[in-house]
Amino acid sequence: MSKKLLHATGFGRIHQLITEGRDDEARELLKALQDEYIGLVEENEALKNQIIEVAQVLDMAECMEFDGQKYWLTDDLRHKGPYCQLCYDRDGLLMRLQKQQRHWKCQCCGNVFVDTKAVKETAAKRSFPAAVPRPPIPLFMK
Ligand SMILES: [Zn+2]
Repeated sequence: MSKKLLHATGFGRIHQLITEGRDDEARELLKALQDEYIGLVEENEALKNQIIEVAQVLDMAECMEFDGQKYWLTDDLRHKGPYCQLCYDRDGLLMRLQKQQRHWKCQCCGNVFVDTKAVKETAAKRSFPAAVPRPPIPLFMK
């Protein structure tokens, strides 16, 4: 007898066995039904948890913001991150990026994200001395 059939007909069958005085068989069937019930409760619990997890992922996805290379997690109050684009897209993982001097680094996949703001600032600092007008070089000596 399959599990589903046992579930559908088990209680009626137990009732019948008891009225026929076949207590041992009834007890055995009741035990099988109990095991099946426990299995269903566990399965139900696992499914509920899965639904909660999926809902959380969907909620999170709504708060994700992509800046062109990294993810940020934003809600009304906070701006968290950044997080690795590769790890999130590939594995659904939120891996916080470590700030280096001129880039962000993912400790999980090793991906490096250039910090465009820091690069621009450094470039601006570097080009500054070149912007100072130099005295003209005399080409022809009098
Ligand atoms: Zn990563």
